[in-house]
Amino acid sequence: MENFGVYIHVPFCVRKCPYCDFYSIAVGDEAPPWREYLVALRRQLDLCVFAGLSGRRMIESIYFGGGTPSLMPPEFFGGVLKELALRFPFAGGAEVSFEANPATVRKDWFCEMKEIGATRASIGVQSFDDDLLGKLGRLHGAVQAMQAIAEAEDAGLCDVGIDLMYAIPGETEARLEDDIKTAMTFQPSHISAYQLTLEEGTVMKAMVDKAEMHMLSDEEAIRQMRIVERMLRRVGWKRYEISNYAKEGRECRHNVNYWRYGEYIGLGPAATSFIREPSGENFARRMIVDPDVASYLSDAARLEIEDIGKRTAMTEFSFMGLRMMDGISESRFKALFGADFDDVYGEAVQELVQGGMLARDGDRIGLTPRGIEISNSVFEKFV
Ligand code: SF4
Repeated sequence: MENFGVYIHVPFCVRKCPYCDFYSIAVGDEAPPWREYLVALRRQLDLCVFAGLSGRRMIESIYFGGGTPSLMPPEFFGGVLKELALRFPFAGGAEVSFEANPATVRKDWFCEMKEIGATRASIGVQSFDDDLLGKLGRLHGAVQAMQAIAEAEDAGLCDVGIDLMYAIPGETEARLEDDIKTAMTFQPSHISAYQLTLEEGTVMKAMVDKAEMHMLSDEEAIRQMRIVERMLRRVGWKRYEISNYAKEGRECRHNVNYWRYGEYIGLGPAATSFIREPSGENFARRMIVDPDVASYLSDAARLEIEDIGKRTAMTEFSFMGLRMMDGISESRFKALFGADFDDVYGEAVQELVQGGMLARDGDRIGLTPRGIEISNSVFEKFV
């Protein structure tokens, strides 16, 4: 039995950023109701134990994401870790990550986070350019972002990651290069660099639709992706996933488990759990908590349950695994599904290999540099 991860969603932000479609509510200057939220998380955890998860395997990683986890006091995180430890064993050296928004942190907060057992901070910088931060509607400026990174590093956390964004409206290649250079003046062990994409229903998407704002073209976005890769490769960084780079051995284990189609429990409104069903009719079960803070706080979490059959699981395993630079392992596919990868996807893979988008290397099949740039159309072949 493999170990599993735990994701805790913190669904509170000071205000909504215009590009964001993650579930969270704006609390303004108010403190989030962290004690009540801890009680509600405990209630959901009891449901997980009830579902027979308790004691089966160990927790390998814990990830506090959001929303804005850094709005919560360290006591909240300590309380969650305590509740988890009461129900599940922790693997030795379990990773404990949290996301932090530069506008909401201070040095003693990072120090206290380290004391309660956190190992990784993921700092939501997005850019070091005040003009671009303004376009994104971020609460912080460049100086605050730099201060937050320095404070997290001074606190002595094992890993400090910087989260950046590229292809922001108005972003030039020179501005992106400056962002990467500024990030490299610190000592991060991890860099995430995601292309800005807009979902329906966001404020920024409406502005783009009304031509009040202009997104970069696909070609410009690809050129910016290449800049990130080239600059980080030159200073010895390893790209281990399409949008994620790490120093050797410092990958985010929680996210790697997700891309490797491992199991995880998701706590909080809008959080998803993914649990295998080794003896059931289906391959796995996905449980999604209703995205509604008020109902989450007032009663037991309401879950939408999705049974995942073997064929759907094969598809998901393939396109999530292909996000990783070392690709899919054919032997793991066989171990999980009892079928040969080639018997299921041989035709699609052959076409993609001939088209220069996939490459085989022993047991593994992965994206080529060209495949990375048009990964969505590669993934479609597996659906
Ligand atoms: S702070 Fe993060 S989660 Fe909150 S609205 Fe902005 S981007 Fe979304």
